[in-house]
Amino acid sequence: MKAIVQAEKYKLGMNENFPDPVKDGKRPIMKVEYCGICGSDIHSWEKCDPVGLVLGHEFSGTIVDPGDRADLKVGDKVTCVPITPCGECEWCKSGRSFMCGHNLYAPGTFFVDKPGALAEYFQPLKSEYIKKIPDNVPLYVAAMVEPSGIGLRACQAIDVGPGDKVLVAGGGIIGSMAANWAKTLGADYVAMTELNAARAKKALEMGVVDDVFDPTEEGVEEKINPKIDGGYRAGGGFTKFIDCTGAAAAINFGMNLTKKAGKVSLVGVNWKPVPLMTIIALLHQLTLVGIMGSPTDNFDYILKAVSEGRFDLARYRTKQINFDLDEIQAAYEELHDPKNDQLKIMVKIGDSE
Ligand SMILES: [Zn+2]
Ligand SMILES: [Zn+2]
Repeated sequence: MKAIVQAEKYKLGMNENFPDPVKDGKRPIMKVEYCGICGSDIHSWEKCDPVGLVLGHEFSGTIVDPGDRADLKVGDKVTCVPITPCGECEWCKSGRSFMCGHNLYAPGTFFVDKPGALAEYFQPLKSEYIKKIPDNVPLYVAAMVEPSGIGLRACQAIDVGPGDKVLVAGGGIIGSMAANWAKTLGADYVAMTELNAARAKKALEMGVVDDVFDPTEEGVEEKINPKIDGGYRAGGGFTKFIDCTGAAAAINFGMNLTKKAGKVSLVGVNWKPVPLMTIIALLHQLTLVGIMGSPTDNFDYILKAVSEGRFDLARYRTKQINFDLDEIQAAYEELHDPKNDQLKIMVKIGDSE
């Protein structure tokens, strides 16, 4: 089969002879129809380790072999949970396989030595990872369930719900999804900090936030404080804060506006040490939670919410390209530019709508 692979640093290649998945009577095989490009694919592409790896972990397709899944038949529309847990550790055994440290979410790539889904076919490690898509959810939409799961998890981990005033730092796709979930889960007020004016405008147009603020603007706190019960010094503040930037300035700014005993989800990826003002976390007595991956149940939860019209996932596709090396390479280069204002670039691989 054809597969897009890491060729060298910053360069993808097309392997025309990548081995096809082999029927084993257990694990279903899907024909990949759509695969989104994620920020972590870009990180992997920068490092190019290992060479020859197939990228892509946000995807949907149609069943060509149902394996041991009696509820599936050839042609069914499906998506897939892209994880590689061991099944043996305390996390896997307690139903929290997204916390498994064995071969899950290794630095640089999600699939370590396991091929991803920027390819014509895909076979998961376990048949239960295949999730059937409701009839009224298009395939390209189902390919965005995985990143939506991260935004949902960021809210779940700090119990976002009615009564909350939530601040999200960063208006990329994960920040936008987290803000959207905060609204869907019933938060009273959702604000965002974002430096990129195009992204700020997009978040407001989409209605995923009530306000967007430029945290570098002089006097911005005076604008924010009236919205959050007068702000921290008046005994108010955001009750929940979700960082989707990994940038110290954004985290310090957000923690400073968070109410005493507030909860913070750290989602933004940053491999370098950052000058974090931990004194703010001490003074405000905050609870900080790190977010990586999301429970497999979130796939069912999100597909249901999308199917019932409670979460508009379709609008996150801001560009679609073909399964063509040059187009995909150009998309990686576009996403690598921090000034890009894409939410999700979708690669159309198969011929189904
Ligand atoms: Zn991803
Ligand atoms: Zn495990």
